[in-house]
Amino acid sequence: MDILLVEDEPKLGGQVERALVRAGHEVERVLEGPKAVEAALAKRIDLILLDVNLPGFDGFEVLRRIREGGVAARVLMLTARSEIGDRVAGLKAGADDYLTKPFAMDELLARVEALGRRSGATVPSDVLVMGDLRLDTARRRVSCHGERVELSPREFEVLLILMRESGRTFSRDEICERIWEREHEYDTRTVEIFIMRLRKKLAAAGSESVIETVRGVGYVMRSPS
Ligand code: CA
Repeated sequence: MDILLVEDEPKLGGQVERALVRAGHEVERVLEGPKAVEAALAKRIDLILLDVNLPGFDGFEVLRRIREGGVAARVLMLTARSEIGDRVAGLKAGADDYLTKPFAMDELLARVEALGRRSGATVPSDVLVMGDLRLDTARRRVSCHGERVELSPREFEVLLILMRESGRTFSRDEICERIWEREHEYDTRTVEIFIMRLRKKLAAAGSESVIETVRGVGYVMRSPS
């Protein structure tokens, strides 16, 4: 499995990483909340082992942001004894399982295997990733840095066209035809309005991906990376 390990304690993190690698998993380890969100959104991961107390923001916030961003990976929370109690209910809302520290490595591996078997049944949704933007076609959701970007259905359609073939220039007519298909009564100026609103929303979300105007031709989506 592809596992993201989020644990800032060097000794424990190292031990867990080695145990998982020995068990045949691919492991990426990060040490802080923001990096965990970034890593979870950047590629498809099967399982996330998530510590609660982390630099940046905590494991609960990581969980909230990645779920908001459409990440369907299984999540196993690693919690200290003092953090259980009333947080268990919250944990269960977004996490798949939790394990209390200190734990035996065999116990951890058994939980990981159990979660792996469960996640085998889930179908990954079609997610387009472009720089800091993530577009989930099944859920019709867009997020930037793990935060949801609220778009109207038409704005979503325009962004989907541009992101699906990023780097390709689309004319206004082409975008109109794809959105309205056989309805001939469209006005290409409405596309300009959607593009303008999208640019504002993406900029407000802090995205570095931009919709560029290609003079006399149309629009193209570009990401700095
Ligand atoms: Ca910690």
